[in-house]
Amino acid sequence: MHEAAAMRGVVNKVLEVMQQAGATQVTCIELVLGASGHFTAEAAQQHFEVFSAGTAIEGAPLKIMWLPATFQCFNCLHRFQSCETASYATCPLCDGVALETEHQDVCYVGAIDVAFDEGNATQHHFVGAGLASTLQES
Ligand SMILES: [Zn+2]
Repeated sequence: MHEAAAMRGVVNKVLEVMQQAGATQVTCIELVLGASGHFTAEAAQQHFEVFSAGTAIEGAPLKIMWLPATFQCFNCLHRFQSCETASYATCPLCDGVALETEHQDVCYVGAIDVAFDEGNATQHHFVGAGLASTLQES
């Protein structure tokens, strides 16, 4: 249910930014997800479709940006970052098994592209991580 709440927040945020900009259409939503967190691209897309249905952003394309998680190799103790969505990865130095040591369980709007009725002008709006903390509280 955490996922659903996060995506509801994302949809509300996009609508809010769009309204503030006076835009009529959203042409791209950059969604930032923490790799290895609770989120999967499929689930994010599904929740987005549910919450955006009937709103001005219904059908807007989601572009998912993964925040890498930190892994540490069992063999050589090398630490590296990877966007693997599993809880382990392969060490780039020795091919050993590396376990995830840290990840950010986040889901927020990184930026959105909006379009206006007049002409083909589009605007890129950075939204950023501000939403992430709001989500943790609810
Ligand atoms: Zn290694």
